[in-house]
Amino acid sequence: MKYTLLVLAALALPGAALAQTDKVKVKVKTKGQPVGSPVGRYPGGIAPHGSVPMPDPLPDPPAPGAGIRPPGPVPAPPPDYAVPYADRYITQEHLRRDLTVLASDEYEGRETGTRGQKMAAEYISKQFAADSLVAPVAANAANPYLQTFGLEHSAWQPGGALTAGGKAYEWLKDFYAFGRSPFEQATAVQPVFVGYGIEQGDYSDYKGRDVQGKDLLVLLGEPRTAEGKSILSPDGSPTKWSVDFRAKAALAAQKGARSIFFVTQETADKFEKTTARLAPRVMQPTIAFADQPGGRAPAFFVSPALGLKLLGASAAALQQYATATAAAQKPVASKFQPVRFSISAPQQRSTVTTENVLGFLPGTDLKDEILVVSAHYDHLGIIGGEVYNGADDDGSGTVGVLSIAQAFAKAARSGHAPRRSLLFLAHTGEEKGLLGSEYYTDHPVFPLANTVTDLNIDMIGRTDEAHAGKPDYVYVIGSDKLSSQLHAALQETNRQHGNVDLDFRFNDPADPNRFYYRSDHYNFARKGIPVAFFFSGVHADYHEASDEISKIEFNKLEARARLVFFLAWDLANRDVRPVVDSNKP
Ligand SMILES: [Zn+2]
Repeated sequence: MKYTLLVLAALALPGAALAQTDKVKVKVKTKGQPVGSPVGRYPGGIAPHGSVPMPDPLPDPPAPGAGIRPPGPVPAPPPDYAVPYADRYITQEHLRRDLTVLASDEYEGRETGTRGQKMAAEYISKQFAADSLVAPVAANAANPYLQTFGLEHSAWQPGGALTAGGKAYEWLKDFYAFGRSPFEQATAVQPVFVGYGIEQGDYSDYKGRDVQGKDLLVLLGEPRTAEGKSILSPDGSPTKWSVDFRAKAALAAQKGARSIFFVTQETADKFEKTTARLAPRVMQPTIAFADQPGGRAPAFFVSPALGLKLLGASAAALQQYATATAAAQKPVASKFQPVRFSISAPQQRSTVTTENVLGFLPGTDLKDEILVVSAHYDHLGIIGGEVYNGADDDGSGTVGVLSIAQAFAKAARSGHAPRRSLLFLAHTGEEKGLLGSEYYTDHPVFPLANTVTDLNIDMIGRTDEAHAGKPDYVYVIGSDKLSSQLHAALQETNRQHGNVDLDFRFNDPADPNRFYYRSDHYNFARKGIPVAFFFSGVHADYHEASDEISKIEFNKLEARARLVFFLAWDLANRDVRPVVDSNKP
């Protein structure tokens, strides 16, 4: 599960949400010594399938329907045929076996582009091979289970500087930034002021403005009445424009701006504290697509004094502007005279490669239609010397997909191949911004028009606070957004085979967590493909080094993985693919 939303929301509201940023701090924790170096243990740094100390103990089950199938076109197998395969292959033992490997320190937290991530890709592809799944990436002769692509690794360098009005300002003292620097070399900038940088309904700071290639000065926050109520929401509550600065950075990019400089009205003292607190986060390297890092303009945050300097305004004039805008309920003209300045903000950049892992099971009479079962296998890597193993996030989903894949593969071998084809898709780069699923859906190996649904699993191994001491449950998100048939199929499957509480609370578009947008299924949904996202909720170990296998509840993980399997079985075998009949937010 991607974390950035909360962190960056905290950045946008430095005063209100500072506590959130504490979460990125590393806790001291003692770990056992690694059993051996990865290289020593697995020649070439790769864990061979055979090194996993648990051979498949089960003989292939007898084909449940062997001999009774009538000749002629293959009918849909009755759903009950799924049961023995779930019972035999989606088991706590199987899930534990894979997770013990993937969530071990040897895999170094599986950070995108690192050795640990590549070891995990290798492990997953070997499992797919052992299950005789087809390797579908023809372009990759070396290992056609892997869809490889490039990303840019970049890190801000110390020594950035800004000069305005003959005064020098310092990086990480007077300003800091997120995104890809357009100011590698010292650059002269003539900024333009575009109010709050908001466009919503009739309210537009960009109306009649051409900001193509420009560097924008934008006020943080949004117009508010004297009582502090937003003029942009019906009830006066804050909108995304003040909660998440990325909304403004994305809009600026859409308008063609080169960069955006955020001016704050907070106190100098507060800015200083925020900057000191965020500095490690700012300096942490980022990974993104080189050509469009997140679709957002690089965002610079400047101190209150520097902001006024760049605007060519006094604090009183700025306050007057804010008050006048709120009173007018629309952007008003300003008398600010933004000053020309010079800035250098160097970054070190390099290219890394990373891999989605794809295992394909051909269907029978409807084989041209593809059902995707996905999970992301990357996590956060090593931070401050500690391995973030991500046992729940998303080791749990990854091993769920591996066991579901094996159940389908064994069924196919025993004469119960699915009618539709299945693509088991382990995504990379999720924690960096859903990058692997963005790449796959922009460069699909199978036509998206034939891709009937994505069932995505991200964190299904724990119990959250809301369900402590309550019956088994799983959150399912998004299943009602594009296809009422998918939603109905899920509920019917659960009635027949699942019997867990399906918790749909996060389908509420007003829910502040916005989980629907925070894992890989969303990239399928944005292409019009129905999705269902399975999730057991966040917990105290979420994105901490303490997200360890010892805390996984394997009985619950098994039940949730089986539910996904039974739903996949139903969707793969029904006569008609889920029809897209709505598009809810
Ligand atoms: Zn995550």
